[in-house]
Amino acid sequence: MTTSTTPKRVYSVELFPPKTAEGMDKLKQEIPKINALGPAYFSVTYGAGGSTREGTFETVAWLRSQGIDTAPHLACIGSTRAQVREILAHYHEQGINRLVALRGDLPSGMGAGNSGDFRYANELVSFVHAEFGGAFVIEVAAYPEYHPQSGSPARDLENFKRKVEAGADAAITQYFYNADAYFGFVDSCQKAGITIPIVPGIMPITNYTQLARFSDACGTEIPRWIRRRLEGYGDDVESIRAFGHEVVLGLCRRLIDGGAPGLHFYTMNQSGPVARLWRELGLSD
Ligand code: FAD
Repeated sequence: MTTSTTPKRVYSVELFPPKTAEGMDKLKQEIPKINALGPAYFSVTYGAGGSTREGTFETVAWLRSQGIDTAPHLACIGSTRAQVREILAHYHEQGINRLVALRGDLPSGMGAGNSGDFRYANELVSFVHAEFGGAFVIEVAAYPEYHPQSGSPARDLENFKRKVEAGADAAITQYFYNADAYFGFVDSCQKAGITIPIVPGIMPITNYTQLARFSDACGTEIPRWIRRRLEGYGDDVESIRAFGHEVVLGLCRRLIDGGAPGLHFYTMNQSGPVARLWRELGLSD
């Protein structure tokens, strides 16, 4: 008899808290369609400095009311220990047992003097463990193309390792379109003794202008051939979506074939692009 020790792949999805009541109504229409795909959990982003605190709470509470496994993000920069403790207690009371623990970036206007009690995400991971033991499965962020503020890839890897040593259970990556960057990063992690699952973050391509802006801000490279093709479509949204779908589908296939432990989809609160990828990848099977 043979027994497989390969852990089951984890496919998850991410939402952001809408800013308006109308946005929340729309999201409530989209969530059941995404949930029908069978994701392992929904994560919900959180604005550093508490800028989306109430929206994140409302979105998380609604997901929980639907019986959906939820992983709130928690960005610690700009917060005090007391504030973070209160948020963790609030989630713990709702039966939430998974978190995405981040440093975050302070919104412009909140000066350096407001950085609060935490400097880096590893401090948040340690704090969660110190205050709540093993109550939460902790996901952290990873950067296959390296964090834009990191001094060097080696330094960034050391800092990533600090989060793992502080007790992170798994990582979700920043989105990328170079599969080799992911495989190279995972390889460096293995050589550095990091063994937690590193799940690729997948950003569907639906709007070139928005994607280019996000990518500049977060340090993701859009390979030249993809950029040129997307630019070439101009306002032709249908062609952008069709080409973007093929690019991301190919990326996901390569990642799965190469042994990625799952995929985490940045849905941008829309079910359509993720549902199409999910179906064609056969992730519900
Ligand atoms: P850290 O791991 O603390 O790293 C930040 C930088 O500091 C890196 O350059 C690192 O090399 C360096 N560093 C880390 N530790 C040390 C140390 N001990 N000493 C010296 N240098 C160190 N942002 C939000 O505001 N809300 C969200 O909900 C959110 N969700 C995200 C989800 C995912 C999956 C990802 C990949 C990113 C997300 N972000 C979110 C963005 C994230 O907050 C930013 O990328 C932020 O700049 C870094 O956060 P971090 O947790 O990776 O920070």
